[in-house]
Amino acid sequence: MVKWDSVAMHRVRRLLAELGSKQGRGTELISLYIPPKKPLYDVINNLREEAGTASNIKSDTTRNHVLDALTRVTQRLKLYKAPPETGLVVFCGALPVAGPNTETIQIFEIVPPRVINTYLYRCDDHFHLDLLKDTLREEEAVGIMSIDTAEAALGRLVGDNLQVIEVLTSGIAGKHRQGGQSARRFERLRENEVNGFFTRVADHAARAFIGESAVKKLVIGGPGPTKDDFYKGNYMDYRLQNAVLSVIDTSYTGEEGIREIVQKATPILQDVRLVQEDALVDKFIGEASKDYGLAVYGLNNVIETVNNNSAGTIIISEDLDLWRLVFRCKKCQNTRERFGKKTDIYALKAEQADIACAACGSKDWELQEQQDLVDYMFDRASTIGAEVEVISGKTEHGQMFNSFGGIGAILRYRAR
Ligand SMILES: [Zn+2]
Repeated sequence: MVKWDSVAMHRVRRLLAELGSKQGRGTELISLYIPPKKPLYDVINNLREEAGTASNIKSDTTRNHVLDALTRVTQRLKLYKAPPETGLVVFCGALPVAGPNTETIQIFEIVPPRVINTYLYRCDDHFHLDLLKDTLREEEAVGIMSIDTAEAALGRLVGDNLQVIEVLTSGIAGKHRQGGQSARRFERLRENEVNGFFTRVADHAARAFIGESAVKKLVIGGPGPTKDDFYKGNYMDYRLQNAVLSVIDTSYTGEEGIREIVQKATPILQDVRLVQEDALVDKFIGEASKDYGLAVYGLNNVIETVNNNSAGTIIISEDLDLWRLVFRCKKCQNTRERFGKKTDIYALKAEQADIACAACGSKDWELQEQQDLVDYMFDRASTIGAEVEVISGKTEHGQMFNSFGGIGAILRYRAR
């Protein structure tokens, strides 16, 4: 299994969000997917042929846009000797920068987090993003089932997402018989009821876990011996019986039971992203709650750990969504670094225009750099051998981490 590269995943999600709504003026937006083994001279030849075809386009604007985009893509490809290990995806086209009639050619290039197997060239009025979207979905689904005699719950774990599909109640009365009923009759009735409930749970499991979105792994849990009776009784379809990785003892049932199973199954679910993220956040919080623990949090403190070489793992919540802007004084070249949400970039630019340069007093700034914080931290971290992990802010652990400000670091050692 390919290691989950959370930074690459983050880049894909960001690009999909950015390009999803983009429309070309005409059929002029290029999408290009290159598998790792495709020779680049083949691709470049293909683009040359496309340019030949495009020179017949009647509209001057569209024709020029397509030809310019093809040139840009070709120039870009010439910088590579071969496609990266997982392939290469390029989107290029004329996009408005500030309203209508401000189109300029923009190019977006991404190394996909998983291997792209299809070669695709499209020129359309929108970008073709589906193949890239698929690279986010390839994670294997794991089925989770919690069961006791009162209720059963079915859940599905994919990557960093745990979904409770349904909770079934059995309606079976407690273990103690009513007065007047014979013990044997009570036992037999109860056995029938349990049997009926198990069959119903197995039916629902088949509907939830077999078919289009089939699971190849299943973990069963619950309090007491019921879960073992269910598993050993072979109630489920043989495909699900064979998929069972483990049967786990839990304290809770229902939705809580599902979450408890995922927690307790950590050793057998180490490939699953949610399990990795939960473990990472647990480690972080463990360190943060010690007196001289190896955890720091907050943007400035984390940047400091990169500056002093002490960062081991930098954790960033997907919810943080911060950008780094660097303004340069046009008069004296003095620079000023600022951080803000992507939606606040315009406001920050406007605000900066009212701030006097600390060195020369001028208010004439230009935006020199603008970069996603994740990319910035990744570049900085790489130079000191630290890792960056981007985690979901939507999970229970992700929300706990968000309460620390959405960015933190686990240190290799504590700097003085
Ligand atoms: Zn200045």
